Amino acid sequence: MVTGRFAPSPTGPLHFGSLVAALASWLDARAAGGRWLVRMEDLDQPRVRPGAAQEILRALERLGLGWDGEVTYQSRRTALYEDALRRLGAHTYWCGCTRSEIADSSLGLATDGAAIYPGTCRGGLPAGKAPRALRLKVDASTLAFTDRVQGRRAQALGREVGDFVLCRADGQFAYQLAVVVDDAAQGATDVVRGADLLDSTGRQIFLQRLLGLRTPRYLHVPVVVNARGEKLSKQTGAEPIDLSRPESELRRALAFLGQHEDLAQALRTWNPALIPRQRAAALPR
Ligand SMILES: [Zn+2]
Repeated sequence: MVTGRFAPSPTGPLHFGSLVAALASWLDARAAGGRWLVRMEDLDQPRVRPGAAQEILRALERLGLGWDGEVTYQSRRTALYEDALRRLGAHTYWCGCTRSEIADSSLGLATDGAAIYPGTCRGGLPAGKAPRALRLKVDASTLAFTDRVQGRRAQALGREVGDFVLCRADGQFAYQLAVVVDDAAQGATDVVRGADLLDSTGRQIFLQRLLGLRTPRYLHVPVVVNARGEKLSKQTGAEPIDLSRPESELRRALAFLGQHEDLAQALRTWNPALIPRQRAAALPR
C-alpha cells in the first residue's frame, strides 16, 4: 500500500512552506488510496517549542488534512536509532575534529554549505582528542535516483559530501539517520518533501543500502522562499497559516503546486507532472 508521511519539526506553527509540503504529501498518498502518517521530527530539543506539535496537528485538522494512526515523535524512538548504529558498526568511526579544524582541512563546501570532511580521523581518533561525532564512511560510488518531479539526480558522496555525522558524542542523533530508520520502520513508500532536502537523498539512500532497507520513491517540491530569497521558517519570520480562512490558504498552496485550486478536485486530478520543476519559488501573494 502507498504510504506517505509528513515530518515537520515542531519549532513553531504551520507556515505556508510547511503547508505546501504537507499538502503535496497528503494529496500524493490519498490520490493513490494510501495511508498518510505524521511524524514529529523533534530530536533537536533546544529548537523544539512546547505546544508547537499540538498547534501543527490542530492546523492540519482545520485544513482537512487527516492522518492515519498515532502521531510519532522521534524523541521517543531513540532505541531504534541506537540499534541502527550498532548494525552500522564497522562502517562508522569517531571523529574528534572541531568545527574550525574541519573548516581548515575541508575539501571544499558541499551544496548545502557544510564543509566537506576529508576523513582525518578515519584511521582512528588522533592521540589526545576526545570523540565529538560518530561518522559514516562513504565510498567513491555515485548514487543516482530519479525524483518524480526534479528528474534524475546523481551525487558522488565521497567527493561532494564526505564522511557524514550520524550521532554526536552527547547522544544527539543526526537527521539523516533518524529519517532513514523511521521511514523504513513506518513503511513509507513515498517521500514527498521540500527540495531543500534533495541533497540529503543520496546520503539517505547510502544508509538504506548499508542497513538493508528498501529505498522509497522521492518527490521534492519547490521550497517556498520569501522576498529576500530565504526559505520560509520560524527563523526567517514566516507567518503562521491563517486558520480563520483555511480554504483560501489551501487554494494558495494548491496553486503553488500547479494543481486544481479546489481540494476535492485536486485530489481527483492530482498530477505531480504539473508541479514546477525548480528548487525554490517565491511566496505567492
Ligand atoms: Zn575528525
